[in-house]
Amino acid sequence: MLWFLTRLSGGGSGWVRENGRVDSETPRSETPRSVVLLGSTGSIGTQALDVMARNRFRVAALAAGGGRVDLLARQAAEFGVAVVAVADPRAVPALKEALAGLGADPVVLAGPEGVAEVAAWPCDVVLNGITGALGLTSTLAALEAGRVLALANKESLIIGGPLVKRLAKPGQLLPVDSEHSALAQCLWASGPSGPDLRVVRRLVVTASGGPFRGRSRADLGEVTPEMALNHPTWSMGPVITINSATLVNKGLEVIEAHLLFDIPFDRIEVVVHPQSIIHSMVEFVDGSTVAQASPPDMRLPIALALGHPGRLPEVSPPVDWTRAHTWTFEPLDDDAFPSVALARQVGEQGGTAPAVYNAANEVCVDAFMKGGLPFLGIVDTVAKVVGEHSPGRAESVAEVLGADEWARARALELTA
Ligand code: MG
Repeated sequence: MLWFLTRLSGGGSGWVRENGRVDSETPRSETPRSVVLLGSTGSIGTQALDVMARNRFRVAALAAGGGRVDLLARQAAEFGVAVVAVADPRAVPALKEALAGLGADPVVLAGPEGVAEVAAWPCDVVLNGITGALGLTSTLAALEAGRVLALANKESLIIGGPLVKRLAKPGQLLPVDSEHSALAQCLWASGPSGPDLRVVRRLVVTASGGPFRGRSRADLGEVTPEMALNHPTWSMGPVITINSATLVNKGLEVIEAHLLFDIPFDRIEVVVHPQSIIHSMVEFVDGSTVAQASPPDMRLPIALALGHPGRLPEVSPPVDWTRAHTWTFEPLDDDAFPSVALARQVGEQGGTAPAVYNAANEVCVDAFMKGGLPFLGIVDTVAKVVGEHSPGRAESVAEVLGADEWARARALELTA
């Protein structure tokens, strides 16, 4: 199991006392935990900085794509960051100008090599909040350097599964995806000494169902990007929001759960839960199910990973038990949303198959957003590309990126 079976060394002993009372002395007497944040200007990145600003953290380095240099410069100045990297080298002059305007003078690194250098930077924990397959290099760089990696970039685990599994040591990978953070919390209930997979019968991953829950396949023909970007419960970046509408995100999460927790695909269930309060569940052999509940707020899984193995105080408002709630659960409609069954299929195939599923999807989402592909065409095209691929074993970065590139080119041809 990749995920933390053991307590991390060098971390705090927990910032909240076992009786649940916030220990105000402990954080002050400890050195602040240092964090390298990748994808700092995105949805995960900005929420992570919000968590860090309200707790005892030091931001060691930041990396971002380069599309929002003013925000990146403000973050670097506010947190007194010593090193900043931008993936797009063309953004460097504007970034330097913005930094100078704020009186900040960090080391500026550029290009994918610069981002990878920051990913391996000395720190207590690296948070990879980069979106999409681009995050793979950073994930591998952080793991190779022996860093503890809080992984919000699920794509890097999914496409580089065999590579990541080979590199990651027990305790090195902390899930930031809300479902997997929930599963990790539920797995602690296996027994008094922590996670025990022998007593786990099934993982139950919840899905909001997205904005088109309850629609039949025939009803999905006329869906526009504006309609798909309107997610009912979660506020996220545009790619993951479209992936939530097609449920490709849930398909990716099933593969992610398999890789993180070593549970076979036929023991990972998906259930639609529109309120997004239960973030996932673990069913045990005795018939008991343990669920994790909290209003949807990504700051919670982020804080749990950054503060691991402790809990940070007052990260997010809890469920309000003074008022009535109705939580509903329903099975997934595989006909309207074939993306999850397709993900199980590529997950079972393993090797480069998940990379092809992911890459083809990224191209198809882009084509859909630009008006060049109907909504149902996204998963239909991904299925076509996956069907044409003969998976390799994904034993090198070059092989994974080769499969990724092939899938992108083929998806582009099919959507042109
Ligand atoms: Mg998720």
